Amino acid sequence: MDFGTIAKPISEVAHNLGDYESFRRSFSWEAARAELQGLPGGGINIAHEAVDRHASGARAGHVAIRWLGRQGAVEEYSYRDLSRLSARFANVLRGLGLAKGERVYALTGRIPELYVAALGTWKAQGVFCTLFSAFGPEPIRARMAIGEARILVTTETLYRKKIAGIRASLTALRHVLIVGEDGKAPELEGTLDYRRLLEAAHDQFTIPPTDAEDMALLHFTSGTTGTPKGAVHVHGAVIAHHITGKLALDLHAQDIFWCTADPGWVTGTSYGIIAPLTNGLTSIVDEADFDAERWHEILERERVSVWYTAPTAIRMMMKAGADLARARTRPALRFLASVGEPLNPEAVRWGVEAFGLPFHDNWWQTETGGIMIANFASMDIRPGSMGKPLPGIEAAIVQAGSDGSLRIVDTPNSEGELALKSGWPCMFRAYLHEPERYRKCFSGDWYLTGDLARRDADGYFWFVGRKDDVIKTSGHLIGPFEVESVLMEHPAVAEAGVIGKPDPMAMELIKCFVALKKGFEPGEALKKELLAHARKRLGAVVAPKELEFMDNLPKTRSGKVMRRLLKARELGLPEGDTSTLEGS
Ligand code: ATP
Ligand code: MG
Repeated sequence: MDFGTIAKPISEVAHNLGDYESFRRSFSWEAARAELQGLPGGGINIAHEAVDRHASGARAGHVAIRWLGRQGAVEEYSYRDLSRLSARFANVLRGLGLAKGERVYALTGRIPELYVAALGTWKAQGVFCTLFSAFGPEPIRARMAIGEARILVTTETLYRKKIAGIRASLTALRHVLIVGEDGKAPELEGTLDYRRLLEAAHDQFTIPPTDAEDMALLHFTSGTTGTPKGAVHVHGAVIAHHITGKLALDLHAQDIFWCTADPGWVTGTSYGIIAPLTNGLTSIVDEADFDAERWHEILERERVSVWYTAPTAIRMMMKAGADLARARTRPALRFLASVGEPLNPEAVRWGVEAFGLPFHDNWWQTETGGIMIANFASMDIRPGSMGKPLPGIEAAIVQAGSDGSLRIVDTPNSEGELALKSGWPCMFRAYLHEPERYRKCFSGDWYLTGDLARRDADGYFWFVGRKDDVIKTSGHLIGPFEVESVLMEHPAVAEAGVIGKPDPMAMELIKCFVALKKGFEPGEALKKELLAHARKRLGAVVAPKELEFMDNLPKTRSGKVMRRLLKARELGLPEGDTSTLEGS
């Protein structure tokens, strides 16, 4: 399927990655590491690279985080501020007896204390784990139990609603630190006052040596395909966070960068906390949830220059209409990027219509820790493609041979599993307590991603689908993404999800679920029109045979369409783990 090409926008900023091929040839992870400082006594620590390094240099007073409160409050934190506050938090943790490698959890929503807690935890050799604040008590309990949470930072409201009832079952948990609301001290039995502790702590802290292989982060996957897994990441990952932010997101120190992801998901940590800080720029952190009008206002008022968001948000903005975007001016905005799900070509092009800039899709996973495949600022975009592998990353399309061995597929456009050669710094080191599940992800040197893809003759990678979602129909293997992208081309379609449904003749037939844009009503005529459009674009064999309208598709809280749930519901099967389902 051809979705055309979009020429790279003209930019006044010199791109960090110029010529892809020559950059790739000259790249080495050693050289990438040399862009960071390392701890004075040896070793590497995320917090040192993110804030202390800047706080002792020319960028000390530069705004690192500009926080926008839900109700309109604004707070700014310089690199010096973050360095001192996180030193205080590290001293607090030490005072509370946190041992190296023990887990500090945060359940706070996007408030400044979350960022301080992350940095302070890394300084104190702890392991940081954030939980999305919209989780209910059970998913919270399960994730805290897996990680043996020692210390929890949360707010008064979240504690009352979600922790109080499960606390007794969290046997590893020693202390709960509460961030009081509206400036008031919390009054909750059995908890400590975060602010009081911080005020009493010393604002200097010498980071003890941390090794590149020391565990620093625990991140749970989105749970799109099954039970969420706790991926372990190490301090040395910061090398890859830094360099991928610089190359794939084209981060420059003078940028105002907005990563809209919540730190409860890996994007919100790797590119919401770490990469922007190591690159020395100003990050926007918005406490509020998605709201199209508010987001347009932020992009304009905060003079955002680089914006990193997700397909689900883009689709919601598309639903609200391009006029909202066109009514505003954003002279600083120069680079738009997206991750988390396939980005339909229609959405890439909508960027140009609404913002005068295309969205740059990139691909990665909780397990990979950082961006692996990207559409770079210096390259033309092929809408619908994930782009090319980052320098330092070797990606291949592989197929299992009949004897179970792995075969690398060199023929352009052949489909197979996307595999990555092990060895980049931010690769996960384990699924916590699940060694067997971890082992199964590898074949020799190759990490198997569980996603199917193809590579075209020019080296661009195209997402086909998750292995679990691929549809077998009339002797063909069909990825849902291509079918969904074609449906998205129709002006009435806001979201589409496609599944395979058992069929005696075709093995599976393609069924799609569609949510409509504002101003369109479901009905027989529109259903016929959409099916006809898909047949015309895809050909009769792979065209969907059934179509059902929905108000909204079931999505994870990080905004991914849960096709497995569409399928389970369609077939009347058990729904499986729905802990990350939006609205649950
Ligand atoms: P789980 O592993 O628990 O089922 P998940 O895979 O959704 O959940 P994440 O690690 O958050 O958890 O998401 C990574 C997955 O998201 C990728 O494997 C891929 O399927 C999808 N993805 C991410 N970015 C893209 C992209 N640009 N294009 C297509 N798919 C993407
Ligand atoms: Mg996954």
